[in-house]
Amino acid sequence: MVKSPNRESYNKIFSKLKEHHKWFGNSIPLIASENVPSPAVREAIISDFGNRYAEGWPGERVYAGCVYIDDVEFECMKLAKKLYKAKFADVRPISGVVANLAIYSAFSNPGDIMLAPSIPAGGHISHGKKEHSGTAGLVHGLEIEFYPFNAEEMTIDVDQTKDKVKELEKVGRLPKIAMFGGSLFLFPHPVKELADFLKSYNIHINYDAAHVAGLIAGGKFQDPLREGADTMTMSTHKTLFGPQGGLVLGSTEHEERIKKAMFPGLTSSHHIHHMAGKAIAFAEALEFGKDYANQIIKNAKAFGEALSDFGFKVLGESKGFTQSHQIAVNVLDYSDGGKVEADLEKANIIVNRQLIPGDIKAGRNYFHPGGIRLGVAEITRIGMKQSEMKEIAFFIKEIVVEKKDPKKILSKIKAFRRDYQKVQYCFDKKLGAYEYVKLR
Ligand SMILES: *Cc1c(COP(=O)(O)O)cnc(C)c1O
Repeated sequence: MVKSPNRESYNKIFSKLKEHHKWFGNSIPLIASENVPSPAVREAIISDFGNRYAEGWPGERVYAGCVYIDDVEFECMKLAKKLYKAKFADVRPISGVVANLAIYSAFSNPGDIMLAPSIPAGGHISHGKKEHSGTAGLVHGLEIEFYPFNAEEMTIDVDQTKDKVKELEKVGRLPKIAMFGGSLFLFPHPVKELADFLKSYNIHINYDAAHVAGLIAGGKFQDPLREGADTMTMSTHKTLFGPQGGLVLGSTEHEERIKKAMFPGLTSSHHIHHMAGKAIAFAEALEFGKDYANQIIKNAKAFGEALSDFGFKVLGESKGFTQSHQIAVNVLDYSDGGKVEADLEKANIIVNRQLIPGDIKAGRNYFHPGGIRLGVAEITRIGMKQSEMKEIAFFIKEIVVEKKDPKKILSKIKAFRRDYQKVQYCFDKKLGAYEYVKLR
């Protein structure tokens, strides 16, 4: 038989996919934006829904063939509204960034100003300036003003924000949108404290719950829509354990503008298989979300405490390290965030390097920032509890503080990891969390 280079590529891709599954089944995944969906969600996202088009709103589609798709999408919207006690839900955004773009498009024009957290203060690049290739600036032409941030408290400063808005008004730069929420997100943002003030200036308040959506669903973080946020955007795959995707929530008053922004503005196909996966995840979150969020918070606090006991400089210490799924650690005593990330990866501990307050002023950059960010959403999802957090903190100490060879720790980590192979907090548990599914 003649050797086909295409066949070789084809086989190579599958072998890499399998190796990846095996690696993650043997690793400690601590990326705060990641999670594992249930077997049910995985079943939904390989269904034929993924091959179809359903442009528009259910019941008013541009395409035929949507009989069952519409039923699922109505159910999906119903579940999303119930989960977040919202009057309106658009389940079509294909990601958190697209959900944010819908807000920018619906409630501002290019050239308008948006108030948002800076990246070292926890902001996300989708809230960012054009000169940083941030989505808000680059794609929608927004100009960004940063919230004053209190690095001691690790949250937005209320009084200084009020002063800043008053100053901005004086110079004709009053923001159109105030964006709350972020990617390094340890403590709730002061939505309640600022909502009336911002509304008195007619500023639209959006809360980006990409990271904390699962905690909000479980009633374990702030409740932005009750605290004065007009709309809420999110990713559906971080602490909320769905497929990759986005969601926008709000009141009926905002419905028409958001719907138009989403279609035809920002989507043609809205990845219907993922929409079905979101519906399943919303049902799981309604059933198991409280227990899950509760355990996440316990784990994150235990992790912060254990790391601090080992001498690490954990941010937010005066406030109990965290009220979310994240822990942030200043690692400058040992090396920098980039080096620590690389060393830990050699021992199958997967973390993010992280810009922390003070980094930019000190001349540090994204490749060698001062911190690392650790998230417990995924390890909680596969059943780990407080005592496992202590064990993981110990592994991290061995590598980062004692500078032990990561390769030598690896076998201990694999053994530690063996007992956590199934997704918890879901209805059906047959398939393993990292089990590779072969259909060929
Ligand atoms: C992850 C994240 C996003 C982007 O979400 P995607 O689903 O990856 O597009 C948006 N905002 C914040 C605050 C995030 O952390």
